Amino acid sequence: MKRSGIACLMLLAILLTSCTRPGKPCPAMDKIQVADTEKFAADPSLPFRFPLETYEKDDIESHAWFCECALVDRKIINTKLTRRMYHAAEDYHRPAGTPVYAIADGVVSFSGKAGGYGWLVIVDHPHYNIYSLYGHLSPSRWKIDPVPVKKGQLLAYLGDPWENGGSKKNPLETHLHLGIRAGQRADYPKKGQWRYMAGWIKLCPSSIGWLQPSLLINNQAVPSGGFKSPSPGLFDIWGTETVISLIYIACGFIMLVLAFRKRIPWLSFAPGIFVAVVWAVLYWRDIARTYYLLAAAVAMLLAGIMTFKKIKEKR
Ligand SMILES: [Zn+2]
Repeated sequence: MKRSGIACLMLLAILLTSCTRPGKPCPAMDKIQVADTEKFAADPSLPFRFPLETYEKDDIESHAWFCECALVDRKIINTKLTRRMYHAAEDYHRPAGTPVYAIADGVVSFSGKAGGYGWLVIVDHPHYNIYSLYGHLSPSRWKIDPVPVKKGQLLAYLGDPWENGGSKKNPLETHLHLGIRAGQRADYPKKGQWRYMAGWIKLCPSSIGWLQPSLLINNQAVPSGGFKSPSPGLFDIWGTETVISLIYIACGFIMLVLAFRKRIPWLSFAPGIFVAVVWAVLYWRDIARTYYLLAAAVAMLLAGIMTFKKIKEKR
């Protein structure tokens, strides 16, 4: 195989990280009716309340709803690519400064800046085995500490278009992004499709633990023992990364054989260095958590050193 062919295969593998995985289509979710949210907020015996003062009809008519599949702009290595992704939450549009309340008793487990969310707050509700995620908040108004909170306790205010994940140059329309998921925040990885703060993902949200927020709040029902966390196999979470790493290892191995046969010492290090650079770019650009790729890079560097020594011995 020609070296250019190997390089092309490696580049193809980079692009694979942004491909939609074929699979079962995400089930269409009913847009549910507006419920008596004031009653939920006032009754302490009910487990959940709506995170805003009111739940308006507009909330289910015009904004990104749960499991909606839409084209989303994603930056892949500084290139803006539009990809089809699922919304793992519900969006409610309100003016900046609107207070946001905890949907249930719990503990704030995250309060900080998180990419496109601007300021993000996550509350763990171990009692029900769920966590709730509130995105596009206002860091300039108030930042809550990691403290226990009661249902209805103030968490934050909605952010202005330049601080809610948007900027002066690219303002983001003010809205609350509410995600609710079975399990606890710490159960999930920091990066990849299963990441705990996922907003738009390639996998169907309902198949990886995300719950429909308004449906959960309207039903007020908690299964005994709490909601069941999804139980993924290792390949479910890291499948794409594993496949990509295997492609790199195969390509790297071919390059090492080529380096040895053609007696090209510098080529011994090329696969390891190339994969290490790819790993670093994917990791730091927050595209994929690829520890498999890091392991592949280390293995290939070691194999490269051995190949280099062999070539020198043969000369
Ligand atoms: Zn959203």
